Amino acid sequence: MSIRETFTDLFKRTTKTAAGASFAVEQLCQCSPAWPGLETTANGYVLPAEASSHYSVLTNPEIGPFVARCTGCRARYPRPWVIPPGAPMPFDWAQE
Ligand SMILES: [Zn+2]
Repeated sequence: MSIRETFTDLFKRTTKTAAGASFAVEQLCQCSPAWPGLETTANGYVLPAEASSHYSVLTNPEIGPFVARCTGCRARYPRPWVIPPGAPMPFDWAQE
């Protein structure tokens, strides 16, 4: 099994809300100023996200299924981002 398949299975609900809608909207940020804040989700938990010059292993779209969105308008963030160090990662998700 590839890393991507493993991650997609482990985090299979990361790109959908609990209601089944897409977590992020495919649009440019509508806020002023743009991108006032970023957030991501993992199995129903909302986690902070922050813009970065590079992706992390988890946030790289070539590997993992995570998406970041604007905290204001829910637009999908199109550039590299990371889950900041120290963010409360709810690892109990893996127990589900
Ligand atoms: Zn926005």
